[in-house]
This record gives sequence, structure tokens and C-alpha cells, in this order.
Amino acid sequence: MKSVDAHLAEILATVRPLAPLELELEQALGTTLAEEVSSPVPLPPFDNSAMDGYAVRAADISDVPVTLPVIDDVAAGSDELRAVGPGHAVRIMTGAPLPAGADTVVPVEWTDGGTVSVTINRSAGEGNAIRRAGEDVKLGQTVLEPGTVIRPAQLGIIAGVGRRRVWVRPRPRILVLSTGAELVEPGLPLGPGQIWDSNSFTLTAAVREAGGEGFRAGTVGDDPAVFLEQLDSHLVRADAIITSGGVSMGAYEPVKEALTPLGTVRFDKVAMQPGMPQGFGVVGEDQVPIFALPGNPVSSFVSFMLFVRPALDKMRGLPAGPPATETAHVTTPVRSPAGRRSYLRGMLAADGTVAPVRGQGSHQLAALASANALVTVPEDVTELPAGSAVEVIRL
Ligand code: AMP
Ligand code: MG
Repeated sequence: MKSVDAHLAEILATVRPLAPLELELEQALGTTLAEEVSSPVPLPPFDNSAMDGYAVRAADISDVPVTLPVIDDVAAGSDELRAVGPGHAVRIMTGAPLPAGADTVVPVEWTDGGTVSVTINRSAGEGNAIRRAGEDVKLGQTVLEPGTVIRPAQLGIIAGVGRRRVWVRPRPRILVLSTGAELVEPGLPLGPGQIWDSNSFTLTAAVREAGGEGFRAGTVGDDPAVFLEQLDSHLVRADAIITSGGVSMGAYEPVKEALTPLGTVRFDKVAMQPGMPQGFGVVGEDQVPIFALPGNPVSSFVSFMLFVRPALDKMRGLPAGPPATETAHVTTPVRSPAGRRSYLRGMLAADGTVAPVRGQGSHQLAALASANALVTVPEDVTELPAGSAVEVIRL
């Protein structure tokens, strides 16, 4: 059997970061920056008021209270500014440019709020409530480095330096296809021997959560020819494909039967539980990576976390490796098959303990849905007493 680490290493050696492209800002959320973003102007671009108040000369308000004539009113966006001469005040709003001559701003709360003349009750030193040009970003300064994931604040600063478009590695487009003659679309009635397809929903959602664009292609039955046809029709639009089901040892394994003859997809037994049968390779002219995951719902989800998620990171141009783990202590004894790494479903508590949930079968999706962590048990360990330290993966 192949080890979990060897299988992941092979996947990461095959998948490539997606080529950068230029996107409108509205399309850039969740993508990875592929250029250095710098500012063509200082930010703020000009000295401006940090408060609603009065722009004055500090020397004129050293003795308070003092009453000064209000010679102008400047709002944010004003461009015709009268200079503030000795003994003058200008009413000024937050974000409005500081008029020449003024060297301080008195907040309106320290005054009587007058519009013809203003009585100032509290003095302020030079520079009070003034935001200086360039104090956030200097002219030409780099604000974001390549490799940064664009989240709302990063999108904001890209817009804030005046950019409309940006070079990024896009969110990988991942097609999700479930196989199984027994599968029925949720919402439709079940016939004898049928179950509702859940994997394609789980996996599409997992792709989205991992920073990709997941597309659910629905389900196909167990005919390899129909499966290949479906796959072919979607290939041009996908950066990678995830299938579920049809990769184990039984009869009617359409994914394995259809892909094995291509010679570019390998089917291995990986030393893990759940999720032992795994297929991975590339398909089509563009060598699109394909993850052929086992059909049991818990197996396909765990396989996603261990193999597809790191591959998505690599496609996004991010550091890629096994999922992060942390140490916790099991509340009950656990068992694990010899020679395989187990990923038990557990409930991790704030006190650093983790309780394996009831129902550790690879079909027990409700148990998975009640868990918040995977408890790993190494290949060479078959039993652990309660209280043992284990590495857990947060879900
Ligand atoms: P397979 O890997 O195709 O042999 O399927 C293994 C088990 O997982 C079987 O019990 C299937 O009915 C079940 N299964 C396969 N695909 C799905 C799916 N998309 N949703 C829910 N269960 C599935
Ligand atoms: Mg099947």
C-alpha cells in the first residue's frame, strides 16, 4: 500500500499553479495576487482634517475662550480653498483638504459650532486632528506583495491606490461529478435501492470553502462510456476534476474502468482509513488533474481534506502541504487498523480534549456532520488508551 504522504507528494508534484490573468476588481475576491501592487500617489494624497471642526492657526487659540470670524466652509471634495489668515477660522469637515495657513484643527465639540463666528473653548497644539499626506502610504510604496490572497481589505487597498484591474491567479474551477447507479437528486423521491446523492454537494461546498469555484455536474450512473462522455463535455471548463465513487474493487466501477485504459490515471490503495481506494492523474489534451475519490461519504470528504485541498492551495499559488494539525487528548480509548493511518471523527473541546463521535463507519455522514475535527492515529499504532495525546485536524 502507498502511504498517505507519498500519495500527497505525487499529487503536489503533478498539479501546477494556475496561470495569472488580469481581472476586474469585482471578480478578484478570493484570488491570489500575482503582481506587486504599489501606489502612484501618497495616501492620503493631501493633508486633510481628521474631524469635523475648525481649521485655524494654533497661535491664535493659545488663550481661550477666543472668538474668531469664520471666513469659509470646506467640505470633503472641496477644491477652491481660501487661505486661513491670522485671526481667521475655516469650518472644515472630515476628509476635507486643509487650507493653506492653517496648522491645526479644533474639533466642533470644543466650540460653540458657530458659522459666522466661532467661539473656541479649548486650545489645540499644531497638527491636531490633521491627517498628513503619505502617512498611510508613501508615493510608490508597495502595499501588497505577490502571493497575497485577496480578501475584502486587500481588495479595498487595491481600489484605494486607484486600480480597476489586477493580475491574479484565479480561483481554480473544479468540476464535481458523482457516480453511482443508485444515486438520486435530493428533492426527488427515492425508489427501492436508491439513496440521495450527497457527495457532490459536500465536495462542491468544500471546494468553495477552500478558495476554488466548485461546479456540481450532478450524477452519472455506472456506465464507463457515459461517464467518459460526461467528463469530456466538462473538461474544457475545468482546472481540475473531482469524481466520487466507482474506484473500488467491486464490479461496476465506472471511474476505474473508464480511466485505467488512458494510462494517465493511477488507482492505488492508500494506507488510510477511511478512504483506501484512491485514483489520481491527468486527463485530456490539457492534462487536467483528476481526483477519483471513493464513494463512501466520509471517505470522499476525508480524501478531499488530505489530498484535494493541498492541491487547490498549490493551484492558487499558495504554500501547499498536509493539513495543519494540533495536539489534543482523546477522552476514550481508540482503535485503529495496523498499517493504516486513521482519521477518526471527533469533537474537539476548548480544554484540548477530543471525543471520538459515535458512528465511525465511512458511510456515517451524520456522525461526520456532528464532528469538528479528525483525530489521526499513526500507521503503527493499533490502540490508544484514554488520555493519549493525538494529532487532530480541525474541520
Ligand atoms: P463506490 O465507491 O461507488 O463503491 O460507493 C461506495 C459507497 O458510497 C456506496 O454505498 C455508495 O452507495 C455510496 N455513495 C457513492 N456515491 C455517493 C454519493 N454521491 N452520495 C452518497 N453516497 C454515495
Ligand atoms: Mg458506486
